[in-house]
Amino acid sequence: ASMGGLSLQPEGLRPINLLQERNILPATPLQAPIPNVHEDIQKLNCNPELFRCTLTNIPQTQALLNKAKLPLGLLLHPFKDLSQLPVVTSSTIVRCRSCRTYINPFVSFLDQRRWKCNLCHRVNDVPEEFMYNPVTRVYGEPHKRPEVQNATIEFMAPSEYMLRPPQPPVYLFVFDVSHNAIETGYLETVCKTLLDNLDLLPGNTRTKIGFITFDSTIHFYSLQEGLSQPQMLIISDIEDVFIPMPENLLVNLNESKELIQDLLRTLPQMFIKSLETQSALGPALQAAFKLMSPTGGRITVFQTQLPSLGAGVLKPREEPNQKASTKDVPLTPSTDFYKKLALDCSGQQVAVDLFLLSGQYSDLASLGCISRYSAGSVYYYQSYHHQHNPPLVEKLQKELKRYLTRKIGFEAVMRIRCTKGLSIHTFHGNFFVRSTDLLSLPNVNPDAGYAVQMSVEESLTDMQVVCFQSALLYTSSKGERRIRVHTLCLPVVSQLSDVYLGADVQAITGLLANMAVDRSVSASLNDARDALVNAVIDSLSAYRSSVLTIQQPGLMAPASLRLFPLFILALLKQKAFQSKTNTRLDERIFTMCQVKRQPLVYLMLIMHPNLYRIDNLTDEGALNIGDRTIPQPPILQLSVEKLNRDGAFLMDAGSVMFLWVGKNCGQNFITQVLGAPNYASIPHNMTHLPELNTAESCRVHAFIFWLREQRPFFPILYILRDESPWKPSFLQNMIEDRTESALSYYEFLLHIQQKMNK
Ligand SMILES: [Zn+2]
Repeated sequence: ASMGGLSLQPEGLRPINLLQERNILPATPLQAPIPNVHEDIQKLNCNPELFRCTLTNIPQTQALLNKAKLPLGLLLHPFKDLSQLPVVTSSTIVRCRSCRTYINPFVSFLDQRRWKCNLCHRVNDVPEEFMYNPVTRVYGEPHKRPEVQNATIEFMAPSEYMLRPPQPPVYLFVFDVSHNAIETGYLETVCKTLLDNLDLLPGNTRTKIGFITFDSTIHFYSLQEGLSQPQMLIISDIEDVFIPMPENLLVNLNESKELIQDLLRTLPQMFIKSLETQSALGPALQAAFKLMSPTGGRITVFQTQLPSLGAGVLKPREEPNQKASTKDVPLTPSTDFYKKLALDCSGQQVAVDLFLLSGQYSDLASLGCISRYSAGSVYYYQSYHHQHNPPLVEKLQKELKRYLTRKIGFEAVMRIRCTKGLSIHTFHGNFFVRSTDLLSLPNVNPDAGYAVQMSVEESLTDMQVVCFQSALLYTSSKGERRIRVHTLCLPVVSQLSDVYLGADVQAITGLLANMAVDRSVSASLNDARDALVNAVIDSLSAYRSSVLTIQQPGLMAPASLRLFPLFILALLKQKAFQSKTNTRLDERIFTMCQVKRQPLVYLMLIMHPNLYRIDNLTDEGALNIGDRTIPQPPILQLSVEKLNRDGAFLMDAGSVMFLWVGKNCGQNFITQVLGAPNYASIPHNMTHLPELNTAESCRVHAFIFWLREQRPFFPILYILRDESPWKPSFLQNMIEDRTESALSYYEFLLHIQQKMNK
């Protein structure tokens, strides 16, 4: 296969001189590489949106993997919303007797009665029940069972898969009501959104709900049936938090609905005159933990400032200014209080989600641990204010709606198995690692992504393919124990050229980003940045010296890795890893949280935004969904060279969008889409497109709506003209251009080339 330089080789190996090729970014979204397995296997293989590998051609030995200088790992989105999911209700779940792998499409049947495990190679008997196929209603065709026809499947788990009866859905909301919190006005939006979605919370007649507020003291709410209004109970001894009454603090949602609605209507007004400046978050979380311990469930905490009282109090740590060395950025937690509490929560099947709505430094590096180790998530709304920052109000409202109404799994565990010889050594995401390969997930949500790093412990000699299987065991909101299983099958290769041929550049970038977060925390930002650059230098050097047979001047990369330097440069310039900028510390930490929990598709968008010209959208090539026509403009490179003063451009950066309007933009776009009489009258703080009754407006709205509806978070739209306050943020995403302190894409390539020639 090593025919470098000749035209007979596969497209993925075609050598590309990056210094010459200026248009390497495809105009349409990049697709995951298709593993080079037999057609019959490919038809059954797992969807890459759910489960994919950095190297779709698995190196046969660790020596070969080391030589390639690329990381081997998996990226998963295991609980993603699916339009179709086969559910198996058999009483026997067929698993390998030796390694406990679930029977799957990639096992082999030796005969009608025996199957060979594709992970440990043990031969197992086919149970009698498996001989009957409930789908086809035919006896004697075990290979046609749904378990061996679907790489993604869900089992109903029998009683041996539970340690106790399935827990009911329990939701506890914890609100900061200090003076600062009341000033932001968030409580009104949150209570309103909760009221609107109360009936849509996942659950059944067993669903329980409760509320705690806190400032310098902790306030519980009795919602006992028969009370004429909720009763507030105040605990002022925050050094020794206790639960003031055994019942009626977590109440049945159905039975106490009116009292709950009453509380949600009155809460926003209750603290309006508060002079309390203190925020005893630590004690409030301890109280919440005690309340939830008997059942487990989900704690949702809203915090607006640095915790200032009681256990878990945090001190302001200096924000680095632009000249500060990236070495000194405090990325590690200043206390282990939140991590310890998270582990306690995890042990009782309690997850904590943190909504931070803060204008000041709040030490997210410490606070974030409460979610990270309890399998929760962090949401961050910097400088939230109900009047001064209306786009954030809309963002909170939209994201909270998704949060409240998306599906949820309780007391879950996930295990990832791989074929004998391969071994997982590092996990990335929000969870607690209970034993070497068992992830404890008190809650599992459909928007969370995970990554793992692997090594080849024993050579995979004589193996054609290897398999990976993730199994997620959880309790549904309806009280059913279920197991969702994904299985991925990949070929094994012995040639370095084949390893490069199968490289998945997006998956590699995503895994490296996760590794860089760990490196930033355990070593330093500079170390993490160096490691990212070295990944490019080392892999392209190895490709040049071991695969390319004809040496030529320039910077050569195989086609499969042609976007690798670009994506790494994009990572280096994003808020998580950039040096010498005035990124606020909590913002940097939040971006790192995003890297750790976003599924790959969203992570790529955040790191390398999509840029489109949108003042000339047409129906040509448009998508038709139902009665909607959605224009599909080509994706442009992230350089100001691609902007044109005559046009208007949309940058989709995942969690934020920018619409840049050129100075000489056609009058048509300005009046028919922006609804302004001329360029000069476009407001400087515009964050909404008017809905105008014009074809142009409809097209732009359809496109932006379509982009937004495909993700679980809500990007704010900033509309920019010249000298807009948002211009620096927009330009910062033009990652191919040079800035005062960072290299342009071309300079970066020269830098790589120079390092390779050393
Ligand atoms: Zn096995």
